[in-house]
Amino acid sequence: MAQAGIHSIVGVAVRKWSPARPWLVLGIVLGSLLPDADNLAVAIATVTGGSTEGLHRTFTHSFLTAAAIVIVFQLIGRLSKRPSWSNLGLGLGIGVVLHALLDLLIWFDGVQILWPLPLWVNFWEGVTPPEWFSQLMMPVEMLFFALYFGGLIALAQRQGTDLGRVRSLKVWTAVQTILFLIFLVLVYTLESDFMTIYGAVYLLSLGLAAVITVRMRQTIEATAKNPSGKLSIGGHHGYDF
Ligand SMILES: [Zn+2]
Repeated sequence: MAQAGIHSIVGVAVRKWSPARPWLVLGIVLGSLLPDADNLAVAIATVTGGSTEGLHRTFTHSFLTAAAIVIVFQLIGRLSKRPSWSNLGLGLGIGVVLHALLDLLIWFDGVQILWPLPLWVNFWEGVTPPEWFSQLMMPVEMLFFALYFGGLIALAQRQGTDLGRVRSLKVWTAVQTILFLIFLVLVYTLESDFMTIYGAVYLLSLGLAAVITVRMRQTIEATAKNPSGKLSIGGHHGYDF
């Protein structure tokens, strides 16, 4: 995986090109974050002594999964007559595809982009980064969570959105920065238990990032044309989340 924080930052960045539809950009950012939740399956398999084979960068990183998500949410949106759910699903699908593409480009490993079809795409065949680099990439996850949260704070302050949530977000930014520094030391010093402690903290941080993304959705969805983040449908009814 490229760092989950990088994916979410890219997800927020693409809002520039996204039409202002309720929950669409929210979906893109969540869809960019969620594929690496497959590490939870890896963690469970590790703890229970099962095989971790085929769990990471497979079912959550697939264009076919992305298409299935879009279709399911389209159905939900149409049946419930809530177009924002269709937008959310489209965003999630776009986010998953963006995540898979970014993993192909900036990670030294393959992605099963058409899971369940057995096609692995790997631009990095035969490239093995040095051990110290692979180790460094783990604490860097927390650094990028901090950068993502810090970026949301800057956006919120610039746009005047979600200002009531900035204070707690500053605390979480500090927490992630401290975790980065702690794990930066532990990854090179702790022998056996590192992966267990790190894995648990990483998964909690990923969940936290998803929760923060939802809570800061007004900030994420605000655009230059629509600085309040309150999107309107048909130009009449204010769409306040
Ligand atoms: Zn990934």
